[in-house]
Amino acid sequence: MFSKFREKVDNALSKAGKEITEREISQKDLDKVLEDLKVSLIQADVALDVAELICEDLSDKLSGQEVKRTKVEETIKESFRYTVKDILAQETPDLVEKVKEDEGTTLVLFLGFNGSGKTSTLVKFANMLKKEGIEPVLAAGDTYRAASIEQLEKHGDKLGLKVVKHDYGSDAAAVIYDAVEHAKTEGKGAVLADTAGRSHSDANLMDELGKICRVNDPDHKVLVIDSLTGNDAVEQAKEFRETVGIDGVVLTKMDVNEKGGAALSVARSLDEPILYIGVGQEYDDLEKFDAEQISKRILSD
Ligand code: GDP
Repeated sequence: MFSKFREKVDNALSKAGKEITEREISQKDLDKVLEDLKVSLIQADVALDVAELICEDLSDKLSGQEVKRTKVEETIKESFRYTVKDILAQETPDLVEKVKEDEGTTLVLFLGFNGSGKTSTLVKFANMLKKEGIEPVLAAGDTYRAASIEQLEKHGDKLGLKVVKHDYGSDAAAVIYDAVEHAKTEGKGAVLADTAGRSHSDANLMDELGKICRVNDPDHKVLVIDSLTGNDAVEQAKEFRETVGIDGVVLTKMDVNEKGGAALSVARSLDEPILYIGVGQEYDDLEKFDAEQISKRILSD
Protein backbone atom coordinates (compact mmCIF):
# COMPACT_ATOMS: atom_id res chain seq x y z
CA MET A 1 0.00 0.00 0.00
CA PHE A 2 1.12 3.56 -0.76
CA SER A 3 4.30 2.48 -2.56
CA LYS A 4 3.57 4.74 -5.53
CA PHE A 5 3.08 7.72 -3.25
CA ARG A 6 6.43 7.19 -1.58
CA GLU A 7 8.21 6.56 -4.86
CA LYS A 8 6.91 9.75 -6.46
CA VAL A 9 7.49 11.97 -3.46
CA ASP A 10 10.91 10.45 -2.74
CA ASN A 11 11.97 11.05 -6.32
CA ALA A 12 10.87 14.67 -6.20
CA LEU A 13 12.60 15.27 -2.88
CA SER A 14 15.84 13.56 -3.90
CA LYS A 15 15.92 15.62 -7.04
CA ALA A 16 15.32 18.66 -4.88
CA GLY A 17 18.26 17.84 -2.66
CA LYS A 18 20.55 17.55 -5.64
CA GLU A 19 19.34 20.75 -7.22
CA ILE A 20 19.92 22.93 -4.20
CA THR A 21 23.62 23.10 -3.60
CA GLU A 22 24.00 26.39 -1.81
CA ARG A 23 24.27 26.76 1.92
CA GLU A 24 21.16 28.82 2.28
CA ILE A 25 17.94 27.60 0.70
CA SER A 26 16.67 30.51 -1.37
CA GLN A 27 13.06 31.11 -2.32
CA LYS A 28 14.01 30.64 -5.96
CA ASP A 29 15.48 27.19 -5.26
CA LEU A 30 12.44 26.26 -3.27
CA ASP A 31 9.94 27.37 -5.89
CA LYS A 32 11.39 24.95 -8.41
CA VAL A 33 11.66 22.08 -5.95
CA LEU A 34 8.19 22.60 -4.60
CA GLU A 35 6.73 22.69 -8.11
CA ASP A 36 8.15 19.16 -8.65
CA LEU A 37 6.84 18.04 -5.29
CA LYS A 38 3.40 19.47 -6.07
CA VAL A 39 3.21 17.49 -9.30
CA SER A 40 4.26 14.32 -7.45
CA LEU A 41 1.62 14.84 -4.80
CA ILE A 42 -1.09 15.39 -7.40
CA GLN A 43 0.00 12.23 -9.21
CA ALA A 44 -0.36 10.43 -5.91
CA ASP A 45 -3.99 11.61 -5.77
CA VAL A 46 -3.56 14.45 -3.34
CA ALA A 47 -6.11 17.15 -4.19
CA LEU A 48 -4.67 20.21 -5.91
CA ASP A 49 -5.46 22.70 -3.14
CA VAL A 50 -4.06 20.31 -0.53
CA ALA A 51 -0.87 19.82 -2.55
CA GLU A 52 -0.58 23.61 -2.72
CA LEU A 53 -1.08 23.97 1.02
CA ILE A 54 1.58 21.35 1.73
CA CYS A 55 4.03 23.17 -0.55
CA GLU A 56 3.25 26.55 1.01
CA ASP A 57 3.85 25.08 4.42
CA LEU A 58 7.20 23.65 3.37
CA SER A 59 8.13 26.91 1.73
CA ASP A 60 7.46 28.84 4.96
CA LYS A 61 9.49 26.37 6.96
CA LEU A 62 12.46 26.10 4.66
CA SER A 63 12.91 29.45 3.00
CA GLY A 64 16.12 31.09 4.17
CA GLN A 65 17.17 28.14 6.30
CA GLU A 66 20.92 27.60 6.52
CA VAL A 67 21.76 24.01 5.80
CA LYS A 68 24.92 22.18 4.94
CA ARG A 69 25.23 21.13 1.32
CA THR A 70 25.06 17.48 2.28
CA LYS A 71 22.01 17.97 4.44
CA VAL A 72 19.65 19.63 1.96
CA GLU A 73 17.78 16.49 0.94
CA GLU A 74 17.52 15.34 4.53
CA THR A 75 16.19 18.71 5.70
CA ILE A 76 13.50 18.85 3.03
CA LYS A 77 12.47 15.25 3.69
CA GLU A 78 12.34 15.87 7.41
CA SER A 79 10.16 18.92 6.90
CA PHE A 80 7.85 17.02 4.57
CA ARG A 81 7.53 14.18 7.11
CA TYR A 82 6.63 16.65 9.81
CA THR A 83 4.02 18.28 7.56
CA VAL A 84 2.37 14.94 6.67
CA LYS A 85 2.24 13.86 10.31
CA ASP A 86 0.80 17.20 11.29
CA ILE A 87 -1.95 16.94 8.67
CA LEU A 88 -2.94 13.42 9.68
CA ALA A 89 -2.77 14.04 13.42
CA GLN A 90 -6.34 14.22 14.69
CA GLU A 91 -8.55 13.23 17.54
CA THR A 92 -10.35 10.13 16.29
CA PRO A 93 -13.65 9.68 18.09
CA ASP A 94 -14.62 6.08 18.76
CA LEU A 95 -18.03 5.66 17.12
CA VAL A 96 -18.69 2.36 18.88
CA GLU A 97 -18.13 4.06 22.24
CA LYS A 98 -20.37 6.95 21.20
CA VAL A 99 -23.19 4.55 20.30
CA LYS A 100 -22.70 2.79 23.64
CA GLU A 101 -22.83 6.09 25.52
CA ASP A 102 -25.92 7.40 23.68
CA GLU A 103 -29.20 7.06 25.55
CA GLY A 104 -31.92 5.01 23.84
CA THR A 105 -31.67 4.12 20.17
CA THR A 106 -28.88 5.75 18.16
CA LEU A 107 -29.39 6.33 14.46
CA VAL A 108 -26.28 6.14 12.29
CA LEU A 109 -26.73 7.11 8.64
CA PHE A 110 -24.27 5.91 6.00
CA LEU A 111 -23.91 8.23 3.00
CA GLY A 112 -21.83 8.20 -0.13
CA PHE A 113 -21.58 7.53 -3.82
CA ASN A 114 -22.67 4.28 -5.43
CA GLY A 115 -19.96 1.70 -5.10
CA SER A 116 -18.04 3.65 -2.45
CA GLY A 117 -18.51 0.79 0.00
CA LYS A 118 -21.48 2.14 2.00
CA THR A 119 -23.27 -1.15 2.47
CA SER A 120 -20.06 -3.05 3.19
CA THR A 121 -19.02 -0.45 5.75
CA LEU A 122 -22.45 -0.50 7.37
CA VAL A 123 -22.34 -4.27 7.86
CA LYS A 124 -18.73 -4.19 9.05
CA PHE A 125 -19.75 -1.59 11.62
CA ALA A 126 -22.77 -3.71 12.58
CA ASN A 127 -20.36 -6.58 13.18
CA MET A 128 -18.22 -4.32 15.39
CA LEU A 129 -21.24 -3.27 17.44
CA LYS A 130 -22.39 -6.88 17.78
CA LYS A 131 -19.06 -7.81 19.28
CA GLU A 132 -19.65 -5.10 21.87
CA GLY A 133 -23.04 -6.53 22.76
CA ILE A 134 -25.19 -4.12 20.73
CA GLU A 135 -27.49 -5.67 18.15
CA PRO A 136 -28.26 -2.96 15.62
CA VAL A 137 -31.31 -2.97 13.38
CA LEU A 138 -30.38 -2.48 9.73
CA ALA A 139 -32.54 -0.12 7.64
CA ALA A 140 -32.68 -0.78 3.89
CA GLY A 141 -32.78 2.91 2.98
CA ASP A 142 -31.39 2.39 -0.52
CA THR A 143 -34.68 1.92 -2.31
CA TYR A 144 -33.23 2.74 -5.74
CA ARG A 145 -30.40 0.40 -6.66
CA ALA A 146 -31.51 -3.02 -7.91
CA ALA A 147 -30.62 -5.80 -5.45
CA SER A 148 -29.54 -3.40 -2.69
CA ILE A 149 -32.31 -4.58 -0.34
CA GLU A 150 -31.48 -8.25 -0.96
CA GLN A 151 -27.79 -7.50 -0.43
CA LEU A 152 -28.51 -6.00 2.98
CA GLU A 153 -30.87 -8.86 3.88
CA LYS A 154 -28.19 -11.39 3.04
CA HIS A 155 -25.79 -9.69 5.44
CA GLY A 156 -28.53 -9.38 8.06
CA ASP A 157 -29.11 -13.15 7.84
CA LYS A 158 -25.41 -13.90 8.17
CA LEU A 159 -25.00 -11.61 11.16
CA GLY A 160 -28.35 -12.54 12.71
CA LEU A 161 -29.62 -8.97 12.58
CA LYS A 162 -33.09 -7.63 11.76
CA VAL A 163 -33.41 -5.76 8.46
CA VAL A 164 -36.31 -3.33 8.08
CA LYS A 165 -37.29 -2.82 4.44
CA HIS A 166 -40.04 -1.51 2.17
CA ASP A 167 -40.42 -1.99 -1.58
CA TYR A 168 -38.09 -0.53 -4.19
CA GLY A 169 -39.08 3.01 -5.11
CA SER A 170 -40.61 3.68 -1.70
CA ASP A 171 -39.77 6.59 0.57
CA ALA A 172 -36.38 6.02 2.21
CA ALA A 173 -37.20 8.41 5.06
CA ALA A 174 -40.18 6.21 5.97
CA VAL A 175 -38.11 3.00 5.88
CA ILE A 176 -35.61 4.51 8.30
CA TYR A 177 -38.40 5.89 10.51
CA ASP A 178 -39.93 2.41 10.74
CA ALA A 179 -36.54 0.88 11.55
CA VAL A 180 -36.08 3.34 14.42
CA GLU A 181 -39.59 2.64 15.74
CA HIS A 182 -38.93 -1.10 15.55
CA ALA A 183 -35.58 -0.74 17.35
CA LYS A 184 -37.18 1.35 20.10
CA THR A 185 -39.97 -1.19 20.60
CA GLU A 186 -37.46 -4.04 20.75
CA GLY A 187 -35.08 -2.10 22.99
CA LYS A 188 -32.23 -2.20 20.43
CA GLY A 189 -29.45 0.30 20.93
CA ALA A 190 -28.81 1.27 17.33
CA VAL A 191 -30.19 1.58 13.81
CA LEU A 192 -27.70 1.57 10.95
CA ALA A 193 -29.30 3.04 7.84
CA ASP A 194 -28.17 2.48 4.29
CA THR A 195 -28.98 5.21 1.76
CA ALA A 196 -29.05 5.35 -2.02
CA GLY A 197 -25.74 6.17 -3.65
CA ARG A 198 -25.85 9.59 -5.11
CA SER A 199 -23.79 12.13 -6.91
CA HIS A 200 -23.79 15.85 -6.34
CA SER A 201 -25.29 16.40 -9.78
CA ASP A 202 -28.23 14.28 -8.71
CA ALA A 203 -30.48 16.87 -7.14
CA ASN A 204 -33.41 14.53 -6.43
CA LEU A 205 -31.31 12.11 -4.46
CA MET A 206 -29.65 14.92 -2.55
CA ASP A 207 -33.14 16.29 -1.74
CA GLU A 208 -34.15 12.84 -0.55
CA LEU A 209 -31.14 12.78 1.74
CA GLY A 210 -32.23 16.13 3.17
CA LYS A 211 -35.69 14.70 3.82
CA ILE A 212 -34.26 11.59 5.51
CA CYS A 213 -32.38 13.87 7.87
CA ARG A 214 -35.33 16.17 8.57
CA VAL A 215 -37.66 13.27 9.32
CA ASN A 216 -35.25 11.12 11.32
CA ASP A 217 -32.69 13.52 12.79
CA PRO A 218 -29.78 11.04 12.71
CA ASP A 219 -27.32 11.05 15.61
CA HIS A 220 -24.32 10.35 13.39
CA LYS A 221 -23.87 10.87 9.66
CA VAL A 222 -20.97 8.88 8.29
CA LEU A 223 -19.70 9.65 4.81
CA VAL A 224 -18.17 6.64 3.07
CA ILE A 225 -15.52 7.55 0.50
CA ASP A 226 -13.74 5.22 -1.88
CA SER A 227 -10.07 6.09 -1.36
CA LEU A 228 -9.43 5.12 -4.98
CA THR A 229 -11.56 8.09 -6.04
CA GLY A 230 -8.44 10.15 -5.51
CA ASN A 231 -8.66 13.80 -6.26
CA ASP A 232 -12.43 13.79 -6.44
CA ALA A 233 -12.85 12.53 -2.88
CA VAL A 234 -12.67 15.98 -1.32
CA GLU A 235 -15.15 17.48 -3.76
CA GLN A 236 -17.63 14.69 -2.97
CA ALA A 237 -17.17 15.17 0.73
CA LYS A 238 -17.71 18.93 0.56
CA GLU A 239 -20.90 18.42 -1.40
CA PHE A 240 -22.35 16.06 1.20
CA ARG A 241 -21.17 18.28 4.02
CA GLU A 242 -22.95 21.28 2.51
CA THR A 243 -26.18 19.41 1.81
CA VAL A 244 -26.73 17.48 5.03
CA GLY A 245 -23.62 17.87 7.19
CA ILE A 246 -21.39 14.97 8.13
CA ASP A 247 -19.84 13.86 11.41
CA GLY A 248 -17.07 11.65 10.15
CA VAL A 249 -15.58 9.84 7.19
CA VAL A 250 -14.73 6.24 6.39
CA LEU A 251 -12.10 5.70 3.69
CA THR A 252 -12.62 2.37 2.00
CA LYS A 253 -10.44 0.11 -0.17
CA MET A 254 -7.24 1.20 1.55
CA ASP A 255 -6.04 -2.40 1.08
CA VAL A 256 -5.93 -1.95 -2.69
CA ASN A 257 -4.84 1.67 -2.72
CA GLU A 258 -1.39 2.15 -4.16
CA LYS A 259 -1.36 5.91 -4.09
CA GLY A 260 -2.61 6.92 -0.68
CA GLY A 261 -3.19 10.61 -1.36
CA ALA A 262 -6.89 10.55 -0.44
CA ALA A 263 -6.17 10.20 3.27
CA LEU A 264 -4.03 13.32 3.18
CA SER A 265 -6.55 15.26 1.12
CA VAL A 266 -9.52 14.37 3.27
CA ALA A 267 -7.65 15.02 6.50
CA ARG A 268 -6.36 18.41 5.29
CA SER A 269 -9.53 19.67 3.56
CA LEU A 270 -12.33 18.66 5.90
CA ASP A 271 -12.83 19.44 9.52
CA GLU A 272 -14.43 16.05 10.01
CA PRO A 273 -12.43 13.15 11.42
CA ILE A 274 -11.56 9.97 9.52
CA LEU A 275 -13.23 7.40 11.76
CA TYR A 276 -12.30 4.13 10.08
CA ILE A 277 -10.53 2.69 7.08
CA GLY A 278 -11.85 -0.24 5.06
CA VAL A 279 -9.12 -2.78 4.43
CA GLY A 280 -10.86 -5.66 2.65
CA GLN A 281 -14.13 -7.39 1.91
CA GLU A 282 -14.60 -9.40 5.12
CA TYR A 283 -16.68 -8.31 8.11
CA ASP A 284 -13.58 -7.76 10.21
CA ASP A 285 -11.91 -5.55 7.60
CA LEU A 286 -12.77 -2.23 9.22
CA GLU A 287 -10.03 -0.61 11.27
CA LYS A 288 -9.98 2.46 13.42
CA PHE A 289 -8.13 5.28 11.69
CA ASP A 290 -4.71 5.47 13.22
CA ALA A 291 -2.92 8.67 12.18
CA GLU A 292 0.46 7.40 13.32
CA GLN A 293 0.12 4.18 11.38
CA ILE A 294 -1.08 5.87 8.18
CA SER A 295 1.67 8.47 8.24
CA LYS A 296 4.19 5.67 8.75
CA ARG A 297 2.78 3.86 5.73
CA ILE A 298 2.83 6.99 3.58
CA LEU A 299 6.32 7.98 4.69
CA SER A 300 7.74 4.48 4.97
CA ASP A 301 9.17 5.17 8.44
P1 GDP B 1 -22.19 0.76 -2.04
O1 GDP B 1 -22.75 0.83 -3.42
O2 GDP B 1 -21.60 2.09 -1.64
O3 GDP B 1 -23.11 0.23 -1.00
O4 GDP B 1 -20.90 -0.20 -2.13
P2 GDP B 1 -20.71 -1.72 -1.66
O5 GDP B 1 -20.66 -1.81 -0.17
O6 GDP B 1 -21.69 -2.59 -2.36
O7 GDP B 1 -19.21 -1.98 -2.18
C1 GDP B 1 -18.86 -1.91 -3.53
C2 GDP B 1 -17.72 -2.89 -3.78
O8 GDP B 1 -16.55 -2.48 -3.08
C3 GDP B 1 -18.02 -4.31 -3.30
O9 GDP B 1 -17.49 -5.22 -4.23
C4 GDP B 1 -17.28 -4.39 -1.97
O10 GDP B 1 -16.91 -5.72 -1.64
C5 GDP B 1 -16.07 -3.54 -2.26
N1 GDP B 1 -15.47 -2.96 -1.04
C6 GDP B 1 -16.07 -2.20 -0.10
N2 GDP B 1 -15.19 -1.83 0.85
C7 GDP B 1 -13.99 -2.39 0.52
C8 GDP B 1 -12.66 -2.35 1.11
O11 GDP B 1 -12.39 -1.74 2.14
N3 GDP B 1 -11.69 -3.05 0.45
C9 GDP B 1 -11.94 -3.74 -0.71
N4 GDP B 1 -10.93 -4.38 -1.30
N5 GDP B 1 -13.15 -3.76 -1.29
C10 GDP B 1 -14.18 -3.10 -0.69
